[in-house]
Amino acid sequence: MATGITMSANGTLIIPDDPIIPIIAGDGVGPDIWNASKPVFDTAVEKAYGGKRKIEWLPVRAGEDCWKEIGEFVPQATMDAITKYRVALKGPLSTPVGKGFRSVNVLLRRLFDLYACIRPCNHIPGVPSPVKDPDAVDMVIFRENTEDLYAGIEWDAGTPEAAQLIELIEKLSGKEVRKDSSIGIKPISETGSKRLVRMAIQYAIDHKLPSVTLVHKGNIMKFTEGGFRRWGYECAAQEFGDVTITEEELWKTYNGEAPAGKIVIKDRITDAMFQQILLRPREYSVLAMPNLNGDYMSDALAAQVGGLGMAPGSNVGDGYAIFEATHGTAPKYTGLDKINPGSMILSGALMLDFLGWKEAADLIRSGIAKAVAKKTVTYDLARQMEGATEVKCSAFGKAICDNM
Ligand code: NAP
Repeated sequence: MATGITMSANGTLIIPDDPIIPIIAGDGVGPDIWNASKPVFDTAVEKAYGGKRKIEWLPVRAGEDCWKEIGEFVPQATMDAITKYRVALKGPLSTPVGKGFRSVNVLLRRLFDLYACIRPCNHIPGVPSPVKDPDAVDMVIFRENTEDLYAGIEWDAGTPEAAQLIELIEKLSGKEVRKDSSIGIKPISETGSKRLVRMAIQYAIDHKLPSVTLVHKGNIMKFTEGGFRRWGYECAAQEFGDVTITEEELWKTYNGEAPAGKIVIKDRITDAMFQQILLRPREYSVLAMPNLNGDYMSDALAAQVGGLGMAPGSNVGDGYAIFEATHGTAPKYTGLDKINPGSMILSGALMLDFLGWKEAADLIRSGIAKAVAKKTVTYDLARQMEGATEVKCSAFGKAICDNM
């Protein structure tokens, strides 16, 4: 009988050979991409472990469709399942702009304190890209997930709360704020910054990567974004002093050549970093940044390697993780079995890596790479590739299985 993932006394996850994994297929195209993805995961696990390991998928609900049907965005049963089984997979969920409920994605991240949004960005050869050398991109973004302007502390213009805050801000800062302003608060804490940077540095250590770059706008927002930078360097020096050096030390002490086994901690101002990822991508490896910077940069980097249809993502905390397709619900394609399931499939591969089932994850990645090399792809890639065979969402999943 299938069992759940549990946590040991020292805080590490214990993964059985037959874990129960909750799956939220999601809104819009979510069910289409899940239908195409499930056979890929099951085939990869079967091929890698010959029946010794198997995932028991547990369908659970969340999102707008769920709300329309049963009046709840995240039913208690879904929260209970993720609480119990700790690792889940999800498709896209709709979020209305400027009205109604705040994002269900944000809510799930907050409920399970999934403080790091981790997005690897690298290029699968053959995937069309708008840049000349997409293979130069090999980065992993660690985006803080719980603070910053995403904390959801804001008031609409004209409300008594906004007026009260404007008055208080003017009193405390001596600066004038227009009376018809909406007000949003941007909290960035030492705790939130350090735990994210800690996870990013640990990832660089585990994967033997050369650098961690702190991306911030501390030149303008000195205490919030500047605080992130300061606390990031503090975390590196205090907790990883034996394996990290700063970029300043790299040049002053080591003449630009990092000693073996040392990770270089750098920092870059966000706008400059947007240039760096285009002009000098080979100089960057792990990137750690506050929430809003991470939001923009992860989509920009995903575009460089072929777009959101092929970009995997995960939201990870201490003891919980939700892996997710990074694109939205693409409503116009709902039910057409057309959309590219690559993001969900690669997110599942990340999940298998997280479980320590690397063999199955690698089979998925090689299956995708071979399907793309044979130009058997969904419409989004086919319209940019010469001589491609356009296949449906489910057929792309099948092509991946056939190429494992
Ligand atoms: P979107 O759903 O990502 O779709 C925008 C366009 O991107 C699509 O029309 C399509 O372009 C392309 N696209 C997206 N996913 C694709 C895939 N798998 N394969 C191929 N092409 C893909 O963005 P949106 O229209 O801005 O957002 C719709 C809803 O999704 C909103 O409610 C938003 O809040 C929500 N959303 C959810 C998440 C999440 O759950 N993580 C993330 C982002 C947005 P073409 O039209 O050119 O084919």
